[in-house]
Amino acid sequence: MNPTPQVISNDEKVANEYVNQVFEIVKNRNPYEFEFQQAVKEIFDSLIPLFAKDPIYMKHNILERIVEPERLITFSVPWVDDQGNVQVNRGFRVQFNSALGPYKGGLRFHPSVNSSIIKFLGFEQIFKNALTGQPIGGGKGGSDFNPKGKSDREIMRFTQSFMTELYRYIGPDVDVPAGDIGVGAKEIGYMFGQYKKLRGAFEAGVLTGKSIGFGGSLARKEATGYGLVYFVQEMLKDNGLDFEGATVVVSGSGNVAIYAIEKAQQFGAKVVACSDSNGYIYDPNGLNLDTVKQLKEVEEKRIREYVEIHPGAEYYEGCTGIWSIPCDIALPCATQNEIDAESANTLVVNGVKAVGEGANMPSTIEAAHVLLENGVLYAPGKAANAGGVAVSALEMAQNSMRLSWTFEKVDQKLHEIMHNIYLSSTEAANEYGHPGNLLVGANIAGFKKVAQAMISQGVV
Ligand code: NDP
Repeated sequence: MNPTPQVISNDEKVANEYVNQVFEIVKNRNPYEFEFQQAVKEIFDSLIPLFAKDPIYMKHNILERIVEPERLITFSVPWVDDQGNVQVNRGFRVQFNSALGPYKGGLRFHPSVNSSIIKFLGFEQIFKNALTGQPIGGGKGGSDFNPKGKSDREIMRFTQSFMTELYRYIGPDVDVPAGDIGVGAKEIGYMFGQYKKLRGAFEAGVLTGKSIGFGGSLARKEATGYGLVYFVQEMLKDNGLDFEGATVVVSGSGNVAIYAIEKAQQFGAKVVACSDSNGYIYDPNGLNLDTVKQLKEVEEKRIREYVEIHPGAEYYEGCTGIWSIPCDIALPCATQNEIDAESANTLVVNGVKAVGEGANMPSTIEAAHVLLENGVLYAPGKAANAGGVAVSALEMAQNSMRLSWTFEKVDQKLHEIMHNIYLSSTEAANEYGHPGNLLVGANIAGFKKVAQAMISQGVV
């Protein structure tokens, strides 16, 4: 892959100046929101070739409009813990852009959640959703509530209180939340129950990621991880490589990581490591996924317990060390900024050939540059992890039709969608002079769809 060429033409200089001006506005309007600024900067830089070639987007000042959320809602979430103490958390929903459809994006429950995190995720979601080709706008939400160590009853009381405020802002044609870190089928179930009670109506399409028994889609649980591997497989094949026989390292051991491991193993890869927020395990013989699932999905234990069951494996404290394990393919599937420039350099020195992002923004801007400049195949999260939201949109379609498709049908559609995202990202990268750079390609392809809809719909 070629590294990103330098900005040279006069048109590119004008575009560069415009982008820098708008970025200054973003920094002034959103001080201290560093994750949001980082996500904006990454997209802005890759749009310069587009603006240089098609100045219409500058004329309509789409950039300054698109960085301003259409609505940002914050609210208090009071609840009572098992000891009878009153607790209060902060709830968020950002309804970022509705040019392509109802707002769509997950809810994250994690102590690190604040408006910067929610806005970075919501901003990325606009372009990711556009790339899927489905009629969905971009949104995101969550709370600084920490579900770890909470009883089921505490989680139920918290989620009910969260929905008691959120319900007035969402609906199947308005805004459709789903899960993310700390929000799985259990939390979605409690929230759906509370929404149903408050509305007095069974509106199945208001939330996605529901259990199969009441409107959930088969293959939604697997979709982000499987979709990531489908996308990376396209990229590998285009470059004469394959998962078959490759050594793979996956960070995280949550929803995305587990199903990325599963599909990579089905494709013949040897996955030797995964992690949680305490540390990582290395199993030179290849991970036993049944054990990982039992520990993380069923027993909700720490990943370190794996080595007690498989003595040939090793456990290490800390999260970043996982990137020092030599591998052909790295799949970061845990959280934002988990690969910095140093980790990226270590991966390069150890001969990594491809990095596919299951998490949102897991590589810092500097890390992404290191990978691209060293010819590593790089699949950015916005494109590579879009399978989850794509199947969420398929869940909405099934709910509207009051039908359920088979696992095979949903999986096949997911595969087609990931193939199309790969094609549109590759084509945009070629068209705008950055062949092989999927970061530039995905950002341009997603942005164009949203920007064209915004222009058609006027200044609203
Ligand atoms: P989960 O909550 O299911 O899992 C997150 C996993 O990452 C857990 O194993 C957690 O460990 C681990 N983790 C958290 N922080 C770190 C860290 N610093 N280093 C190593 N491991 C860490 O979340 P998801 O799998 O749903 O989400 C993972 C990422 O994928 C997020 O960035 C999310 O936004 C993104 N994503 C998710 C989608 C989905 O459909 N779920 C769709 C698209 C993107 P522990 O067990 O200790 O908490």
